[in-house]
Amino acid sequence: SDHALTYPASPSQMDWTPHYPSFVATKSEVKPESDAADEATTPRLDRQLEIADIGCGFGGLLFALAPKYPDSLILGLEIRTSVTEYVEQKILAMRAQAKNPSVQPNITKLGPLDEDTKPPKSELNEDTKPPPTNPDPSPTAVSPSQVPGSYTNISVLRANTMKFLPNLFPPTSLSKIFLCFPDPHFKTRKHKARIVSPGLVSEYAYVMKPGGVAYTITDVEDLHLWMCSAFRGSGGLFEEVPGDVWEEREGEDGLDGGGKGMGEAWEAEVREDVRIMREETEEGKKVTRNGGQKFVGVWRRVADPPWP
Ligand code: SAM
Repeated sequence: SDHALTYPASPSQMDWTPHYPSFVATKSEVKPESDAADEATTPRLDRQLEIADIGCGFGGLLFALAPKYPDSLILGLEIRTSVTEYVEQKILAMRAQAKNPSVQPNITKLGPLDEDTKPPKSELNEDTKPPPTNPDPSPTAVSPSQVPGSYTNISVLRANTMKFLPNLFPPTSLSKIFLCFPDPHFKTRKHKARIVSPGLVSEYAYVMKPGGVAYTITDVEDLHLWMCSAFRGSGGLFEEVPGDVWEEREGEDGLDGGGKGMGEAWEAEVREDVRIMREETEEGKKVTRNGGQKFVGVWRRVADPPWP
């Protein structure tokens, strides 16, 4: 239960260094942000967390995003203990293998999993192979922590994301939030357990940078409409990024500037993020196998108007 979960009193008191040991700040990089003794003594990273996968399940999205954004720190949040432990151990195994490609991670031995929490079989073999690491690390090459495929930039935390999100992330810190295939909680009296709701959308807005993007995907049309109305009803905190920006196009060259004029590179990145969440999440793969439909929403955090 939630009683076993602990949260820092504020984000500045959260020690992320065990999660991202390759990104620990050197002494000279640590800026005294506050006079409070506990904040000053909390070990620091050299950058802020930037991408959150809310309800990450078995972590398919994390493993796909890691080599795409090697300079960004990415966190999966998951409420189930055994699933969180599985993802934790898989990350460690993948890091070890990236360091020494002759080590085959034996993900099947990674701790006890209940029948209903086991990842799909495909997850346990070919999907666990990381992309090749830099074959020729010359002196000008990026540092080992930055090599795409070393998985040092992803981690997972057991948390109930419906509670205390602002205790984990400072305001305006995240550039992306993924909400992939949230549990639908069909019954009306269970709707309060949905991880997208008007109240939670304001919390997501609070921790996001202006211009940041929240992504939603589900195979349940009702839930899609519910999530759309929560984001649309956010009182101007988010604006919808229309499908013509992020839908894959025939003869894709990634250079079509259409849409809302956010720039070609931005649009290409959004399109790639949507492709990844459609294809690389465990649920996304399951829906493809079953021939189901996937409903996507893309929501851009609008800058707050200046105080009058
Ligand atoms: N996002 C993954 C995917 O697309 O494959 C997993 C989707 S799964 C249907 C929903 C996940 O959200 C489950 O792993 C569940 O344990 C987790 N979850 C549900 N409520 C949560 C909450 N309040 N906080 C954190 N995780 C939660």
